[in-house]
Amino acid sequence: MTIGVLALQGDFSEHIAILKRLGVSTREVRLSEQLDDLAGLIIPGGESTTIGKLAEDYRLMEPLRQYGREKAIWGTCAGAIFLSRDARRKQPLLGLMDITVERNAFGRQVASFEADLEVPVLAAVDPRERPYHAIFIRAPLIETVSGDAQALAQLEDGRIVAARQGRLLATSFHPELTGDDRFHRYFLHMAGV
Ligand code: GLN
Repeated sequence: MTIGVLALQGDFSEHIAILKRLGVSTREVRLSEQLDDLAGLIIPGGESTTIGKLAEDYRLMEPLRQYGREKAIWGTCAGAIFLSRDARRKQPLLGLMDITVERNAFGRQVASFEADLEVPVLAAVDPRERPYHAIFIRAPLIETVSGDAQALAQLEDGRIVAARQGRLLATSFHPELTGDDRFHRYFLHMAGV
């Protein structure tokens, strides 16, 4: 079973490094044919407008939507924005998840910060309960979750930073930049790997 990482722009190599460390076979995805037979796909952090424009240029928008209707996709940061159905401005979005996001929601001064999150669902992959230390870099906020989408993690003030809808996962932070691989293992679990 292979997990793909969308490799148009952003920090895809960090995701690949963690997956390799977990013993998972990986594939960089730039062409629609490369989605075939993948158990799941990760869309990395980077710049969501650039990822969207490149996805259009590479004719990946429809193949990615089709893929996401049946299989597991996890978007981190810019990837979460790309999965959403509304980011408040005009930019190419997959619109697969019933979440709306606010880009760069934390302003310039605190554009990057770290926070310990309570993420109860991680107990599915690791029974030793402890906070998840999350790194936010010019991060979006998940403003609303609707339909079947559910919040998985919130900041202390209640603002949502992780959500799941069926086989789709969105995190506004960067699990590929920490040594804690629980979110990667959670996604593998969702993808049935
Ligand atoms: N600010 C970026 C965007 O709006 C996301 C930042 C990131 O992925 N670290 O797309």
